[in-house]
Amino acid sequence: MRFCSLSSCSYANSVVVQDNNTCILIDCGLRKRDIKPFLAQAGLTVSELDAILVTHCHIDHVYGLRFICQEKNLPIYSSANILKKLGETVRFKTPPKFIPFGRCAGNKIGSLVVAYFSLSHDVETIGFMLSSNGEQMGFITDTGYVPTSCLDTFQALDYLYIESNHDPDRYQKSTKPPYVIRRNLGPTGHLSNKQCSQALKSLGLENCKLVVLGHLSEDDNDPALALNTARRHLSPGIPLVSAPARTPGNWSDQHSSFGV
Ligand SMILES: [Zn+2]
Ligand SMILES: [Zn+2]
Repeated sequence: MRFCSLSSCSYANSVVVQDNNTCILIDCGLRKRDIKPFLAQAGLTVSELDAILVTHCHIDHVYGLRFICQEKNLPIYSSANILKKLGETVRFKTPPKFIPFGRCAGNKIGSLVVAYFSLSHDVETIGFMLSSNGEQMGFITDTGYVPTSCLDTFQALDYLYIESNHDPDRYQKSTKPPYVIRRNLGPTGHLSNKQCSQALKSLGLENCKLVVLGHLSEDDNDPALALNTARRHLSPGIPLVSAPARTPGNWSDQHSSFGV
């Protein structure tokens, strides 16, 4: 299993995950003009995608869905509630097939097995545990905190993509409205660098092959700051990188050239 962030910030989020047989996109917040070029940078075309998973209905995660579904009528997976909301808010030209995840059992998408769990955001939001060929990947973004149930479940991860959104001190200088700052710092907002690093300490990452920090705020964070904070709670041998904001990063199996 390997993955590649196509875009990761408050503007647009999308991550591609693939194994030998199956290729999926998690979220598609991309602008129409970016979809094909960003996939091409990852060596892919829309036709090679098998499905899209959606974490929640914020615009930075779903903006490009209707455009990518015009290229290929991909099935969309999420929780039943999120799919309902998606159907109400996104104007699809041809309605795609919505497939709600079952709560307990692993959901098979081709050769990938996907389990989901609830996160804490100001709209219903889910994270994922993806499994393939004995490997496991955790996917956590857009949450005010990492739920204990999730920390307990993630005890032998091979890969982790986790939000490291902001440095709270940066908000002292922020020009954002106070209600936005309150929301982002609160329990249904976004993970700070410190919260992310505390989660890294609690998760089972002893054998992790790569941790990618994502959804870094371009105004209220800095990649070096996020990486340094995360590194304090991560064993030195575990590769750690941050996803670039508005451009594709490297595939997870090519990380060593720019790892920290
Ligand atoms: Zn977001
Ligand atoms: Zn969000």
